[in-house]
Amino acid sequence: MSVRQEIHWARTAIDAPDLSPLDGAQQVDVLVVGGGLTGCRTALGLVEGGASVALVDSKDVGWGASGRSGGQCNPIWRQTPDALKAMMGERQAETLIRTTLGSADALFSDIRRYGVACDPVQAGWIQAAHTRKARDRMQRLGAAWAAVGADITELDGDAVQRASGSPAYRWALRHSAGGHVHPLSLTRGYAQAAIARGARMFRDTPVTALERRDGAWHATTPRGTVRAEQVVLATNGYSTDLWPGLRQTFHPLVSVSLVTEPLSDAQQATVLPGSVTISDSRLAIFYARYDRDKRLVFGCIGSTDHVDRVSLARLRHGLRTVFPQIADISVARTWAGRIAVTPQMMPHLHAPAPGVVAGLGFSGRGIAMTSVMGRALAAKVLGAPDDALPFPVTPVVPLPLHGVTRRLIPLAAPAMSLKDRLDTAITRT
Ligand SMILES: Cc1cc2nc3c(=O)[nH]c(=O)nc-3n(C[C@H](O)[C@H](O)[C@H](O)COP(=O)(O)OP(=O)(O)OC[C@H]3O[C@@H](n4cnc5c(N)ncnc54)[C@H](O)[C@@H]3O)c2cc1C
Repeated sequence: MSVRQEIHWARTAIDAPDLSPLDGAQQVDVLVVGGGLTGCRTALGLVEGGASVALVDSKDVGWGASGRSGGQCNPIWRQTPDALKAMMGERQAETLIRTTLGSADALFSDIRRYGVACDPVQAGWIQAAHTRKARDRMQRLGAAWAAVGADITELDGDAVQRASGSPAYRWALRHSAGGHVHPLSLTRGYAQAAIARGARMFRDTPVTALERRDGAWHATTPRGTVRAEQVVLATNGYSTDLWPGLRQTFHPLVSVSLVTEPLSDAQQATVLPGSVTISDSRLAIFYARYDRDKRLVFGCIGSTDHVDRVSLARLRHGLRTVFPQIADISVARTWAGRIAVTPQMMPHLHAPAPGVVAGLGFSGRGIAMTSVMGRALAAKVLGAPDDALPFPVTPVVPLPLHGVTRRLIPLAAPAMSLKDRLDTAITRT
């Protein structure tokens, strides 16, 4: 049976800022390209730091992943602190580890500080292992982050079901700092806070060219231009060829979601008690949370920019697997969005030319981490030294054979799902 394709969050979000397309010439200190969480949080930090800012989006604020997201705040990386040290050096990693440990609280305190009505809930995140191998890996990850101060506990056997309502797992980590937000409202809320402090924003304004001339950057858009001292590229999974090689630094995977009809009180008592969130260790990751109306939002990896029959079947199978007690619940809507996955599953902060920075590659961990990146990008543009930033500043280096892997992406989700099924059949936790 087909299900209506519509981004659920658009129905319940706060009002969009009243924007127009850019028409004419603008001159600012900083141009931000991309109006998702990264771009909007960067713009906010910049105007607070005294810069004049123009932000443009090809479509609209929150149109990309930020308005389609599962909205789960998952405040650690897939790498241990020691792996981060090996990757970027002791000093930078220490800054990143400290920032990561505070990232969830920083997000929820931003939400309070700017008065963003985005239904924030900080009730914890259950990260469940689907196989024994995954359990061993996650046990090491959890212990390593707990050792540097993260509030993480292990759940074993029946405790997993008591905490999550899911009978599908026998082992999990519980991250008390985790939670969830309404992702489109958060994005719009950051945009409104930035506009209230002086940022200018424009919708339906793709930047089609960037050129360095007369000591400044000049952006071309269909009906206007922007002259800026500095440029922030915040285009993540929707990056075009605007900056050479940028879209070749990550794999543009698709994440698909469904939302159910509201759960009854009896169903709510058995699914995600206390409004915790859950995600698991599958390659095609299953994740779920409530919205404010007690509908369940359930997601996994998809193949195309719309939820085709195969993706819908994968979503339904996932929902039945994780919460068999609501296997027959009606699905109200489905939608899809693009995520940017880097080889090490870590975002990149690039500085490809004087006055140009880019922050992207959140690898499905963007809700807390785009704010971390937004603050870092704003700090760099305002003059912070690189070694004070939580991410190493790196050049744009395209991935080898990107053209080939890109064409294979529609096959990634079925391949990942097949491997997940085989792994689960062999070594369930
Ligand atoms: C379905 C889905 C579920 C997810 N669930 C979670 C989750 O539960 N937890 C989590 O932590 N993360 C999740 N993520 C990832 C998270 O949402 C993203 O990492 C985050 O939103 C990225 O924000 P961004 O601002 O960097 O990019 P985006 O929100 O994608 O914004 C990029 C913007 O750039 C614009 N743009 C591109 N090129 C140009 C141009 N040339 N000119 C002007 N504008 C341009 C686009 O129009 C777009 O609006 C999910 C993602 C998806 C798609």
